Parts: sequence; C-alpha cells; structure tokens
Amino acid sequence: MLACGRSGHVTYAPAEADVRHQLSARTAESGDAWRCLRCGTFVTGEPQLSGPAAEAPAVRRGKEIRSAFILRVFAIERFVRAVAAGLLAYVVWRIGYSRQSAERAFDRELAAFRGLFQDVGYRIEHSKLVGLIHHALTLSPTTIKLVAGGLAGYAVIELIEGIGLWLSRRWGEYFAMVATSLGLPYEVYELASKITVIRSLLFAVNLALVLYLVNTKRLFGVRGGKHAYEARLRSESVMEAATEAAAARREELAAADRGAAGPETVTSPGAVAETSQNAAQY
Ligand SMILES: [Zn+2]
Repeated sequence: MLACGRSGHVTYAPAEADVRHQLSARTAESGDAWRCLRCGTFVTGEPQLSGPAAEAPAVRRGKEIRSAFILRVFAIERFVRAVAAGLLAYVVWRIGYSRQSAERAFDRELAAFRGLFQDVGYRIEHSKLVGLIHHALTLSPTTIKLVAGGLAGYAVIELIEGIGLWLSRRWGEYFAMVATSLGLPYEVYELASKITVIRSLLFAVNLALVLYLVNTKRLFGVRGGKHAYEARLRSESVMEAATEAAAARREELAAADRGAAGPETVTSPGAVAETSQNAAQY
C-alpha cells in the first residue's frame, strides 16, 4: 500500500497475550513476524512498538487514506481561493490609498496581476470583480476599505477551511461545511442571473464538498453521526479486529468449558454421576 511504502509498516506488540497471538506469526526461516496495523501484511523482525492494545497508535488505512486525499484536493482549491481573494483585497486596499491617481494605480496594480492570472487561464479584464473595483473607484474611501476588508475576511475564511481540510480535522470539516453552505445561496443567485463556466464550476465544487463532508464524515448526526463514523474507523482497524478475534476466541474456549462440564449436569441429575465418573477418569 502507498502509505506503507512511503512511511514504512507499523508493527505493534500488544501486552495482552491473546491479542499478541492474533497479530504475530512464526516463520520457519526468519523468526517472528508481526502484522502491520496499516496494511495488514506480516512483517518479519521485531515489532516497532509494544504496550497495551488500547494504546496502539491510530493508523489511517483504506477508505480513510482515500478520504484524506480527497479532502486535500479540496484544501488546495481553498488555498487558491484564499490567495486570489487576498490579492484582490490588496489591490482594492491600495486603490483606497491612492485615490488621486486611482485610475493609474488601478492600471499599475492590475498590470502586475494580469500576467499572473493569465498564467492560470483567467482573463482579468473580463472579471466581474475588476468591474466591481472600477465601480469602487467611484466610492468613498470608507466603502473601499470595507470592500477590501470583506475580501480579506473571505481570504482568511478560505485559508482556515483549507487548513482544516488539509489536516482532516473534524473542526475543519464542520467549518468548511458551514462556511461553504452559507455561500451557496449567493452562488445560486449569481447562476440564476447568468450562467458561466467559472460560476458553474465553483458552484459544483462547493456543492460537492458540502455533500461529501455531510455524507462521508457524517456531520450533524447524518448516518449515525460521530459515533457511527468512529465505529466504522474502529471496525476497519487491524488492532481492533485482533482484539475482537481474541475476545471471540476467549468466549469460544469458555463456552467449550461450559459445554464439557455444563448443561447436562444442571438439567439432568442422572448425568451428574456420569460426569463425575468421567472427571474421575482424568
Ligand atoms: Zn504496512
């Protein structure tokens, strides 16, 4: 598996003998082998760590790694939004401070960004935001600062979303979900006035993110909420599976014990003598 190839296998010897038995195997030529907690393959050699089963390191695997990857793709998109909004905030703010030569300042600042945006295939002259900045030139300095502040605030929100999603934190998932949802009505409104490729794309990304987060991360109690989400992660854990297998084995042995000396002796008094006879033979 990719993650194991990059950062190595994770082997752990639990203190509990029966759980340890589930996670280890003896090989003929190279001694003991331990099950990797991430990919589940047996790795020969000494275990990297040991301790109680409950204190085993939490390892991301399978679905969780894929999900973290998807969230990072969304995170990168958020970072791009943050940078774009931050640059615009800066441009608007600069215009606010050089009103005497507003038009000239506008052209100067814009020239600096034109190439940058053209690199990513974006014609800045056609941007509605540039139209808004043009409009802002006719506004009062206070309004211009408010616009710049609003853009800077948006950049900060996108930055926080990006960090939360990049780190796959639950707070980040909630933050991104709520902040993105709040923007959706405005995006629908914009699309209703005119449908463009960029608008449709941005809207599709946001909608996909919200649905993805609510559904797979089970936010707000969806599909059992946090408990069900964590239970699923546990059920996919190698250590948890070993602990459960060990518990089942204990249960099995206990049941076998009860079966050997159990039900008949209780139900039929006649069998008591028989069982004690058997016991005497051993
Ligand atoms: Zn591994």
